[in-house]
Amino acid sequence: MKLAMWTYEGPPHVGAMRVATGMRGLHYVLHAPQGDTYADLLFTMIERRGERPPVTYTTFQAQDLGADTATLFKDAARVAYERHRPEAMIVGASCTAELIQDDPGGLAAALDLPVPVIPLELPSYQRKENFGADETFYRIVRALAAPCERTAQASCNLLGPTGLGFRHRDDAEEICALLEGLGIAVNVVAPMGASPSDVARLPAAHFNVLMYPETAEAAARYLEKEHGQPFTRTVPIGVDATRGFLAEVAGITGLALQADESRLRLPWWSASVDSTYLTGKRVFVFGDATHAMAAARVARDEMGFEVCGLGCYNREYARPLRALAGEMGVEALVTDDHLEVEAAIEAAAPELILGTQMERHVGKRLGVATAVISAPVHVQDFPARHSPLMGHEGANVLFDTLVHPLVMGLEDHLLHMFRGDFEFSDEAGPSHHGATSTVPERPGDLRAAPPAQPGAEAAAAGGSTRLEVVWLPDAEDELRKIPFFVRGKARRNTEGFAQERGIARIDRETLYEAKAHFAR
Ligand code: SF4
Repeated sequence: MKLAMWTYEGPPHVGAMRVATGMRGLHYVLHAPQGDTYADLLFTMIERRGERPPVTYTTFQAQDLGADTATLFKDAARVAYERHRPEAMIVGASCTAELIQDDPGGLAAALDLPVPVIPLELPSYQRKENFGADETFYRIVRALAAPCERTAQASCNLLGPTGLGFRHRDDAEEICALLEGLGIAVNVVAPMGASPSDVARLPAAHFNVLMYPETAEAAARYLEKEHGQPFTRTVPIGVDATRGFLAEVAGITGLALQADESRLRLPWWSASVDSTYLTGKRVFVFGDATHAMAAARVARDEMGFEVCGLGCYNREYARPLRALAGEMGVEALVTDDHLEVEAAIEAAAPELILGTQMERHVGKRLGVATAVISAPVHVQDFPARHSPLMGHEGANVLFDTLVHPLVMGLEDHLLHMFRGDFEFSDEAGPSHHGATSTVPERPGDLRAAPPAQPGAEAAAAGGSTRLEVVWLPDAEDELRKIPFFVRGKARRNTEGFAQERGIARIDRETLYEAKAHFAR
């Protein structure tokens, strides 16, 4: 058992639903208890789809457990076929149905339906949503992709976009336009928008673009092995990655590709003098591995930030993330425990958090600017406007996304010079957001932690005695002059400095000595 309040990913059958819902002409029969239809809302409300997901639930109840749940499944599968007449079906079990072991695959095979029926084995107690999507898509491709002649023109498939994917709709559009503008035809985009017959003709393309490793790497590897299609390894999020991706495509196709970058604005926006104040801002990045790594590279290499933390919640991609974290000189955080993430963010004291919806809550609690760069996300991250993260427009969107939550340069400067202004102050928050930040001060808060109590008992830490340090009023006043987004870091550094030297009472001098020490 594990106590969990928030989970970054749903159970694997939600991943299977994302594949089914993204596709056309495919139906999913899910053996599941009554109530599991909650997952429909992910698609009809968060993604705002205008139709129900193509999923039939058996919705068994307690009273059914004493009877024949296998017949219930068979009836549901038969009725689903009759009603929807799909080109193909997938069948599987949710977490609870996995326990009653009815074998949906075997039961569906016994029905002898006139369309391919693909059984899914999704271990709900070991794996999660992204695995469910990846495995489902792989099973569909394995069952349906048929040998066929390559297209005459250089062509590719885009693999990975699914229902409920973070910016998948716009990323697919952006990459299609980018490649087609360079004379490379897009054969099939899958699973999003593809029918089972489209999946059958995946092998006609010359190569595959693996847009999201989390949801399509198994299928890409299968197509490479069985149908000789190479696939791209670079995910084109950011300017450098998009250029690297196109170089990879040029290598695969043997074509000289010269992309039109006239709509690419990030490099100049980032180089222009108004962005100078972004240099060295400390940023903590967390999300799924693909988006976290891409955002960390953009933040460091294309915006001039300093990455002070990097992590992901999907262990499947821990290895490349660890390698990148090592290259960036930070320790990788691989966890699906949001409390661990919160503690790591608090310890790193960043000025900006790039994360998921969960980190948005953390940022709110700690009073740190936050932008969302990865699923899981709420409804506002399925916007009406075109908002890709990939390709040239994706880089433009990323620039705006990363800069928007920060206090703007002039205000940043004025906050240094004029403190205590009734309108423009630390407590008021960035004025371009028009809101008043009233984050309360509390222990451990990045904005300002209360001073330790005089005479507090020394606490044992790591076998050595920790000194309880006290902030004197003059030092507190001086600390308050430091802009709020770096104040937590200054407090922590000064306390560490005092601890090391056995200084129990921090005054102004200690603060300045610590500042000089860390500036060295
Ligand atoms: S089957 Fe799984 S997803 Fe459905 S209610 Fe039970 S634990 Fe939740």
